Amino acid sequence: MEIIFLGVGEAFDESVPNTSMLLTTQSEGRAVTLLLDCGYSVPPRFWQQGLDAETLDGIWISHFHADHTFGLPALLVRFWEQRRSGELYILGQQGIESFVRKCLDLAYPNFYPRLRFGLRFKEVEPGKTVQALGLSWSTAVNDHPQRNLALRLETGKKSLFYSGDGRPTIETGSLARRVQLIIHEAFNLADSVPGHGTITGCLEMARVAQARTLALVHIQRQVRKERLQEIKSLASSVHDLEVLVPEVGDKLII
Ligand SMILES: [Zn+2]
Ligand SMILES: [Zn+2]
Repeated sequence: MEIIFLGVGEAFDESVPNTSMLLTTQSEGRAVTLLLDCGYSVPPRFWQQGLDAETLDGIWISHFHADHTFGLPALLVRFWEQRRSGELYILGQQGIESFVRKCLDLAYPNFYPRLRFGLRFKEVEPGKTVQALGLSWSTAVNDHPQRNLALRLETGKKSLFYSGDGRPTIETGSLARRVQLIIHEAFNLADSVPGHGTITGCLEMARVAQARTLALVHIQRQVRKERLQEIKSLASSVHDLEVLVPEVGDKLII
C-alpha cells in the first residue's frame, strides 16, 4: 500500500494544503486508488500527480467541514472536462450523497446531471463493515464538533486507520487495534483544544492500540511554524512505535 501525503495542513494554513492522502493498493489482482478527504486546497496537489482521469476509484470523506470537502466540485468538474467515463465511489457517513449533491450544486449550479460518469455513494456507519472496491471499510465516531468518522481500511494483508478530525475516543481506539498505520489529526502538542487531537494523546492512543506507525497531520499552523523541530525530536525519541511528521508530498509504503 502506497500513501502520498497531498496535504498535511489544518483548515486555515496559508502555506500547507489541507490534510489529504492519495492511496494506492492492490486488491483482487488490480490497483485501487483512493483519495482520503478533499479540502479546498487539495485539487491542485491531486492534479500535479499527473494521473489519468480514470485512475481514481474512490473518495473517502471523513466529515463535512470545508477543509475536507470543498475540493470535490473542482475535482469532479475537471473529471467531466477530461471526459471521464468510469464510475467513481464516494464513501462517508450518513447523508454523504445529499451533501455532495448540494456542494456541487452551490459551486457549479445544475452540473450534477451533466457529469458523464456515475457517482456511487456508500454510507459506512459504525457497527458494520462495508465491502467496496475489494477493501473492507469500518468506522467509529471520534470527538469533533461536526460528526466525524475515523476509518479503518483493510486489504488482505494491509491495514490503515485515518482519523479525519477529532480527538480519539474509546471506539476509535478499538477500531485502530493492531493496525499497521495510524494517520491522525494532532492539532496541538498537549494543550487541550476541545474536539481536536493532541500529539501526546495520539501517541498514547497508538501505543494502546499497538499500531506499528503513527503519522501526525493537521497540526495547527502556528504550532507547525514555531514548534515543528520540537515535535520532530519528540517523534524520533519514541522507540516502541515509529512516529512520523510527514511533509507535503511525502510517500510512505506499508
Ligand atoms: Zn480539518
Ligand atoms: Zn473538522
